[in-house]
Amino acid sequence: MSFKLKSKLFSKLFLSVFLLPLAINAQNKEYAKQVIEKLCSDDFSGRGYVNDGDKKAAKYIAETFRKNRLGSPTVDYMQYFGFQVMVFPGETRLKVDGIDLEPGRDFIVDAGCPNTKGTFKIVYIDSATIDNKFAYETFVKKLNRRTFIVATSIKGKTFLNQDRAKNILTNTVGAKGLIFDKQDKFTWSVSLQKDEFPIIFIQKDAIKSTMLELEIEIESIPNNHQTQNVLASVKGKLYPDSFIVITAHYDHLGKFGPAIFPGANDNASGIAMMLDLASNIAKNPLDYSVLFIAFAGEEAGLLGSYYYTQNALVPLNKMALLINLDLMATGDKGLTAVNATEFPDEFKLLQFVNEQGSYLPNINPRGKAANSDHYYFTEAGVKSFFFYLMGEYHFYHDIDDKAEAVTLSKYNEAYKLVYDFTNAYIKQSIANFKNTEEQKDK
Ligand SMILES: [Zn+2]
Repeated sequence: MSFKLKSKLFSKLFLSVFLLPLAINAQNKEYAKQVIEKLCSDDFSGRGYVNDGDKKAAKYIAETFRKNRLGSPTVDYMQYFGFQVMVFPGETRLKVDGIDLEPGRDFIVDAGCPNTKGTFKIVYIDSATIDNKFAYETFVKKLNRRTFIVATSIKGKTFLNQDRAKNILTNTVGAKGLIFDKQDKFTWSVSLQKDEFPIIFIQKDAIKSTMLELEIEIESIPNNHQTQNVLASVKGKLYPDSFIVITAHYDHLGKFGPAIFPGANDNASGIAMMLDLASNIAKNPLDYSVLFIAFAGEEAGLLGSYYYTQNALVPLNKMALLINLDLMATGDKGLTAVNATEFPDEFKLLQFVNEQGSYLPNINPRGKAANSDHYYFTEAGVKSFFFYLMGEYHFYHDIDDKAEAVTLSKYNEAYKLVYDFTNAYIKQSIANFKNTEEQKDK
């Protein structure tokens, strides 16, 4: 079909789409705010790996599906699976020269940090030492299991003898571990494996002068973590065997000792929009069926979505289109569509819908990326997009990505865009299908 023809079809479609009463409830943004506040509350412990954080979040999502009378491919909305992950359920204490530092704010450890306890001497390495053989050898002789090396000044630099820098950064020189002092904010992550030695990150403004000694107690264990994806569906009016799939991950980083990583933008916001869509679509079903999947284990390496693609409950070949929502709390600078270059026709439709509704200031195309839960579906041949909103927001994988911080400035517009795009896609697919059938008849 030519582009001209398609444009004509678009406008015809749009007349019909906009004549439909839009299943938008005026309270969308307020509802999303409530969901985000709930999921980011202390009770959910950062939806991770201590205090049943992700399990509680999964229950809340399943309960919301049940209240809105959605069906599910499973009896209890859950798809269970497990993986090993490093957890920090106990002590996370660090004292530098007698002064207590605050976990998550003043210091953090690498997500794979092994159990570490004791008092250690702090030594500094600099570029001149790396570049001078004698100085380097003298430095290495001072090291033992009771020393931590501050290695900030050599990280990411190139030296004539790169091996010496590498020996320090991989700690083959026999220290206890490494310290990086940082001026920018910490970002944390999830690790499936235990590191060979501890790496500590300390905020520069948390220390008065050069550090001499540290007292540390970090309790960490590799835990066999049991978790679950949460699934619900609404049966399609015309083609129940074709599915639109709306996904969002509900897990976040959990806790580091008392420090909670709330994950408001990442990704309580995506879950909020997914639940919002689910309750409205349950009241007004679409022509295709809609499957909603809240994934676990995204931050641990897309584990929930990978598990689903290997153990599909609604088969992948019934999925007409998948839309993954992750980071949906802003929007002043528009929306980015990952996979736009993979599916150019659908991307054009998305832009068209956005222009028709004057929703977001900009729709930014991006190529393939393995940066969220759409990825394994794309690889398995499902037509999929990952949408994220862009705008002023400075918190990512840190303790300040809180419910209070998100504005949801373009939430309603983004919601309508996703809803309208879904409908337009279905109508276009049906029209295309009928068209090819007619062609066959002739
Ligand atoms: Zn995310």
